[in-house]
Amino acid sequence: MSDELTVEIWRSNSGSGRFQTYQVPRAAKQTILDVVTYVQRELDSTLSYRYSCRVGMCGTCAMVVNDRPCWTCRTQASSYSEKKFIRIAPLRNLPPVKDLVVDMNPFFDKWQRAGGGFASELAKREQFAKISPRSSARKAANEAIECIGCGVCYAACDVVKWKPGYLGPAALNRAWTLMNDERAANKTKLRNLVAEDSGCLSCHTTQSCTQYCPKQLDPSGSIAAIKRTLLRPPE
Ligand code: SF4
Repeated sequence: MSDELTVEIWRSNSGSGRFQTYQVPRAAKQTILDVVTYVQRELDSTLSYRYSCRVGMCGTCAMVVNDRPCWTCRTQASSYSEKKFIRIAPLRNLPPVKDLVVDMNPFFDKWQRAGGGFASELAKREQFAKISPRSSARKAANEAIECIGCGVCYAACDVVKWKPGYLGPAALNRAWTLMNDERAANKTKLRNLVAEDSGCLSCHTTQSCTQYCPKQLDPSGSIAAIKRTLLRPPE
């Protein structure tokens, strides 16, 4: 086996671009993020990419590696060692900014459109709401709440590609946590937002979101649960 990885990285400055090939020395426990960082520090300082924590907490290093969206800090280069090359591209379904950097605004705008901000009916001086961790609603909310907004599911979703206005798996997954949050106000408004044409009914249950979510969440299951809820009259 060669001591070097052959790596293709997407380079672009204003939308159009091409893959550029680099040779990167192999290293023990080397992640895809390490590979990109090596290229930027040692071979081409003009390469743009994003990362923050490097330990799977922030989600900012998400990219597409050999056609699969993933967190690059948690993806080992050795898992591609049998392949001829490693091809690294920016997240799909989001406007490119430069090289591996995409504009995340449309992604987070959709969280807002889905009513993803928490709003309480309690005033600041009132006591905290007492919520039993064993309630079925709280359990349903907890199952979906660990999303860190990395955009991997959004990049994996074919429906977002076909129908750019679709809210997408992460925004709907967030809406499902709030629909189950006993403290959240505006449940009727939430129902109406996720029931719009661009909401849950656009989902074709391709399950790519669930397949690729690095947090092992099940946005597809959340969307199916929203659909079932909409069939029942509001409480
Ligand atoms: Fe990332 Fe999973 Fe949240 Fe989608 S649901 S944004 S893949 S953590």
